[in-house]
Amino acid sequence: MNYTPLLNSQSLRVVTIFEPKKDIKRENERERERERERERDMAGNGGTMIVGAGPSGLLLAHMLLSNPTLPRHLLPITILEAGSDPRIPMPLFKSRQYCVGLSARGRDAIGRVKGLWEEVQKEGVPTSQFILHSRKRSISLKRSPDKPSLLINQRSLAATLLTRLEDCHAGGRLKVYFNTACVGADFGSQTVTFMGNLEGTVSYNLLVGGDGARSTVRTEFIRQRAFDYQQISMPYYFKVLHVPRPSELADYAVHSFRLSKEDSEEKAKWPGILIPLSQSEKSFLQFGCFPTPNNGMSVLIEWSPDSIPKDLLQIKEPSELKAYIERYMPPLRVPLEAAEAFISQRPTSSMKVKCSRFHDVQGRAVLVGDAAHAMSNALGQGCNSSLQDAVALDNALHEEADLTLALEKYSTQQIREDHAAAYLSEHAFPQAKWLLPFFLVGNVLSAVLSKTIMAPLIAPSIQSLCSETLVPYSEIVQRHKLWLSVVELTNMIAAKRRPSLQ
Ligand SMILES: Cc1cc2nc3c(=O)[nH]c(=O)nc-3n(C[C@H](O)[C@H](O)[C@H](O)COP(=O)(O)OP(=O)(O)OC[C@H]3O[C@@H](n4cnc5c(N)ncnc54)[C@H](O)[C@@H]3O)c2cc1C
Repeated sequence: MNYTPLLNSQSLRVVTIFEPKKDIKRENERERERERERERDMAGNGGTMIVGAGPSGLLLAHMLLSNPTLPRHLLPITILEAGSDPRIPMPLFKSRQYCVGLSARGRDAIGRVKGLWEEVQKEGVPTSQFILHSRKRSISLKRSPDKPSLLINQRSLAATLLTRLEDCHAGGRLKVYFNTACVGADFGSQTVTFMGNLEGTVSYNLLVGGDGARSTVRTEFIRQRAFDYQQISMPYYFKVLHVPRPSELADYAVHSFRLSKEDSEEKAKWPGILIPLSQSEKSFLQFGCFPTPNNGMSVLIEWSPDSIPKDLLQIKEPSELKAYIERYMPPLRVPLEAAEAFISQRPTSSMKVKCSRFHDVQGRAVLVGDAAHAMSNALGQGCNSSLQDAVALDNALHEEADLTLALEKYSTQQIREDHAAAYLSEHAFPQAKWLLPFFLVGNVLSAVLSKTIMAPLIAPSIQSLCSETLVPYSEIVQRHKLWLSVVELTNMIAAKRRPSLQ
């Protein structure tokens, strides 16, 4: 028997191990293999496999675990998440996480789990106004103050849903694995394969693809017959900057700006530096400011291929970025660490996804949330509709004892609603310059008149029906058919004129 002295680099302690070097290695490998086997046993074992710990996957887990009629073979619930645990603290400025606005539908969905909305609410900021800042003045599109949207950072939302989930359902019925990505599913054998912290292939009784717009589970749907599918990159990119909230920007509103660099150089002062809402030929920045808790502000900077803010994107030095933003995007003030994080962030583009069905009978599989219907964020309905998917799937499983019938029911209902939500998000706002005044005047008038005796005669706007009520999206499309058709046509013409996404 020989011995090997090992130098522990941290303490420089000499550790003497009376084992042959070779055996230690083999033993470690065996131990790792045993560990992997244990983990493989833990994950899966039939039950429900939810891929993705985003809002839709996590709320679904909540609902299924609270459902007393859930068949035993759909337990345990296993969640596989490719990313890290959102409960691990991370300074906001370090992440590219954006804020989502949870309105009536999101509140209704989360509120179905006792006490959960109250927890979520603590992490967000209520807002009841949308202010469009233009050169001369600001236009405020007010919403009912008693029906505010809750602005919440994505990571905080996931962390809150998760904390409560584990608090309420710890034990054998729930298993959550982070840094573990689903890399494939096989509907024939009803198995999923995953890699990362855990590796292996396990069987399931119900597979839920809640893995977002670039879903891996959906890839297996695409291989099936009679599944039509469309995926389109949206002609916008964005980056997110996290800064302290300037006192000039109220914390009860989302502020939207369209800014011309040339105009700001005319020494005009805030708030008069901003150009009107028009498709200017000049370079401009479009950004939305979303208040976050503790007097923070999440700034979403967006651009399309015909208005790339090249100057901004070329900056490599934090101090230069800080100076640029403070000069051209007042009243923002940028800490250097936030500037540094912004520079290292890669621009992201969003995707639209449309599927002809959300379920597969043979594969005992369903898609929820963005995996099924990623949509434009113009109306702020992506997350809200995704949360409603969880409610609809849970209801269907509650109402139909037969899994096939339940999946069909869910799919039929949500295809109608989510396709309508995507259509509204696409066509509620006109892109044609000449239609914008009609849109703005219509919105302001409807908001003003709805508070007078004429209220019964005024049709609530699409925005207000989507975010303040639970009127089905399909019904909103019917009510605003004429306007939507005009916008659809003019948007189509505008899109043809726009340069394609590189
Ligand atoms: C800029 C912007 C602003 C938005 N604002 C709003 C708003 O105001 N209101 C609103 O309602 N919606 C908004 N949305 C849309 C909203 O973010 C999405 O609709 C919502 O996050 C969808 O939730 P989800 O759970 O379906 O998917 P996601 O939130 O995308 O979650 C999917 C999860 O799956 C994980 N995952 C991915 N692939 C795998 C894999 N292979 N294996 C395991 N895990 C995987 C991901 O890491 C992620 O955690 C906005 C979107 C954008 C881009």
